[in-house]
Amino acid sequence: MTDFNWTRQQFHLPDGVIYLDGNSLGPLPKATPARVARVMQPEWQELLIGGWNTAGWHRLPEALGDRIAAMIGAEPGHVAVGDTLSIKVYQALAAALALRPERRVILSDTGNFPSDLYIAEGLARMLGRGYRLVTVAPEAVADRLGDDVAVMMLTEVDYRTGRRHDMAALTAQAHAAGALALWDLAHSFGALPVDLTGCDVDFAAGCTYKYINAGPGAPAFVYVAPRHADLADTVLQGWQGHEAPFAFDPAYRPAAGVQRLRVGTPAVLQLAGLDAALDVWENVDIAEVRARSMALSERFLAGVEAACPMLELGSPRDPEARGSQISFRHAEGYAVMQALISRGVIGDFRAPDVLRFGIAPLYIGEAEIDAAVAILAEVMAEGLWDRPEFKARAEVT
Ligand SMILES: *Cc1c(COP(=O)(O)O)cnc(C)c1O
Repeated sequence: MTDFNWTRQQFHLPDGVIYLDGNSLGPLPKATPARVARVMQPEWQELLIGGWNTAGWHRLPEALGDRIAAMIGAEPGHVAVGDTLSIKVYQALAAALALRPERRVILSDTGNFPSDLYIAEGLARMLGRGYRLVTVAPEAVADRLGDDVAVMMLTEVDYRTGRRHDMAALTAQAHAAGALALWDLAHSFGALPVDLTGCDVDFAAGCTYKYINAGPGAPAFVYVAPRHADLADTVLQGWQGHEAPFAFDPAYRPAAGVQRLRVGTPAVLQLAGLDAALDVWENVDIAEVRARSMALSERFLAGVEAACPMLELGSPRDPEARGSQISFRHAEGYAVMQALISRGVIGDFRAPDVLRFGIAPLYIGEAEIDAAVAILAEVMAEGLWDRPEFKARAEVT
């Protein structure tokens, strides 16, 4: 059984803050500062370059890849860690396209995160030869699968609406149409159970700074199914993906398996943050997190709908059809969110009109949900958002 009182104790959260933005940047685990500091002192300070061997820095990406693999139903040795999610999507997509050379379409949905779509568009342009990105409404993906689709590239949980695709069904449909499936787990990893092997997924990628709480800019990861791993074109032929990086061979030879998707020198300080964050997850059953997230989301939704008729639900009503977030729409959504933040309820705003609230049961419980509902109700009922200072947009929203 997951002890959610214990998990809450593992995080630093500022006094007076109700944090409903862990879907964007998870909070600081209490163990992280010391773990990251250890890399600086004594490791870096005393060992200098010897740290790569003596302190195990060089092995860290593989070790962390195995820890992540165990959390997402991936085979050990088939997750590579590093870089950012955008880069890992680029590599996975390019590798998948190369495995279906006679097809030209990358199929995605209009709700996908812009970076994934930008990456696909840029890659298609660079490949030329008729490659193109096709986006359809999230509900229409299955119908668009056809014999021109090389890769179906989807984010399981929509970043704005929280709408969740059926990973198993769509992957099977993609395969039936002769396409490969690439899944982005940005809003899945740490939010709900993921079973890549069970869903027969070909490629997947995700980040660790959202629900996993590894820290701002923490490393991403990529999964390649074992059946493709030794065939995958590495695209970004960095030395860390070479079979023998320290042979300094002028000829590129990809490493065996997914480790060929490593590119350059690992970001050791950030990897240490990921290592510390994953320790919390050793004591967590993700199925219990999911059950609690659904219960808390239902409580939040019922409370807001009862108190705030002017907010329109922007997420699916069925909790099974959502990830771990609830969105509402309001024309002055930005100002509403700023008013909430000024009162200690931190969610975020996504253009054009979405108020987004992430529900992370590791550190959010009934009391926080009820308090957030009460504060939102007051902000809406009294129009407290209608002030010039809440309408001035910051650089990061
Ligand atoms: C958060 C997110 C990203 C961010 O990519 P980075 O390279 O880590 O900045 C990409 N795709 C999706 C679907 C996301 O939710």
